Amino acid sequence: MSDCLIVGGGIIGLSLAYELAGHGLAVRVIDAGQPAREASWAGAGILPPANVASDDPLDQLTVLSNKLHRQWSAELRDSTRIDNGYRRTGAIYLARSGAELPSLIALADQLRFGGIEAERLPPASMSQIEPALRPTGSMTAAYLVPDECQLRNPRHLKALLMACTERGVEIMPGVAADDFEIRRNRVRAVLTNRGPLSADVVCLTSGSWTAALAAKLGARPAIRPVRGQMLLLTLVRPIVSRIINEGSRYLVPRDDGRLLIGSTEEDAGFDKSTTAGGIAGLLEFALGLVPDLAAAQIERSWAGLRPSTTDGLPYLGRVPELENAFIAAGHFRAGLQLSTGTAVILSQLIRGLEPAIDISSFRLDRDASDARLSARRDVHEVPLH
Ligand SMILES: Cc1cc2nc3c(=O)[nH]c(=O)nc-3n(C[C@H](O)[C@H](O)[C@H](O)COP(=O)(O)OP(=O)(O)OC[C@H]3O[C@@H](n4cnc5c(N)ncnc54)[C@H](O)[C@@H]3O)c2cc1C
Repeated sequence: MSDCLIVGGGIIGLSLAYELAGHGLAVRVIDAGQPAREASWAGAGILPPANVASDDPLDQLTVLSNKLHRQWSAELRDSTRIDNGYRRTGAIYLARSGAELPSLIALADQLRFGGIEAERLPPASMSQIEPALRPTGSMTAAYLVPDECQLRNPRHLKALLMACTERGVEIMPGVAADDFEIRRNRVRAVLTNRGPLSADVVCLTSGSWTAALAAKLGARPAIRPVRGQMLLLTLVRPIVSRIINEGSRYLVPRDDGRLLIGSTEEDAGFDKSTTAGGIAGLLEFALGLVPDLAAAQIERSWAGLRPSTTDGLPYLGRVPELENAFIAAGHFRAGLQLSTGTAVILSQLIRGLEPAIDISSFRLDRDASDARLSARRDVHEVPLH
């Protein structure tokens, strides 16, 4: 019997486990497969800056998360000796067509309005700061956003797994939650393929797979998978030093010469295949921005399933009608970024404390058919589409 049983060992579940164990709780994480291998491993690790003065709940969660990423990265490096690649590399946002221009200008205005630096780059200075960035076609505008950060998902997850173990978290791969034993408004046990497991508190952090499981608790979060394909290139040395964003796609340079190209956004159910069309589109995009990438080696490709929600907001909170069941899922294209804030907020809630920010907009019984925010995309793409 543990204090808290976490169902799903992705970035959300492992971050929550790390945080709860740091407060002295006995935590167990079960995962149907290998922990840290699904969407959380697949992502790009982009952490865009956020508006610190905003009263929008998602902005507030992002601000909290960004602050914590800096702290956690240092903490994890000290305790595990793993450098998770957290860097303030900055980003360039650009448009190559008149059609893209209005959304780029709106994005830059929105960033500046939120107190975030976004400097319009004349073509001459762009070729000075990123000489390899020579977009084909007519480049209509570019902005420099110096405060954009990144981290390397596989390294961050490896560090978190190690730190969780050091804090006494029990991690159980290959254990799938199938159902729940519920009596008098409490989950008494999680029924798994390895038998029942009991805990004082249960939290679902099962990403794209959450809707079916939550239904067995009587909750109806509108979460569905959206596939994103990625391509990894290797170069002898870095060819660009900043993240390059155009619309919904991006290039993310790592400091060892690797470069990520992302990403597609597809409705493919739970199919994690990569496709010829998807990868060809990513390559065409990348070569159209940085022609010298033609000489890079292709290291590998993969796809992950983003847990998307109808209204663009994650679900964070207690399951209505149940005293000891919680859900933290549906972070779509910002789960890596929002993981630290989510962990702290959920940990406060689970420990019976008032959460540091108002999470009523994220509650499980909200009307998610309100598509007010449904246009939200990847963390860094929000205002572009
Ligand atoms: C291509 C791509 C690029 C992205 N880029 C970024 C980015 O730059 N920045 C950013 O912030 N976010 C990004 N994201 C989004 C981010 O990766 C996700 O929002 C985040 O990983 C979701 O984390 P999670 O822990 O909820 O889900 P997951 O990582 O999918 O973990 C869920 C876990 O639950 C387990 N599970 C499922 N069902 C059960 C069950 N019944 N019993 C036990 N275990 C179960 C699964 O095996 C899995 O390990 C990207 C995603 C993709 C795919």
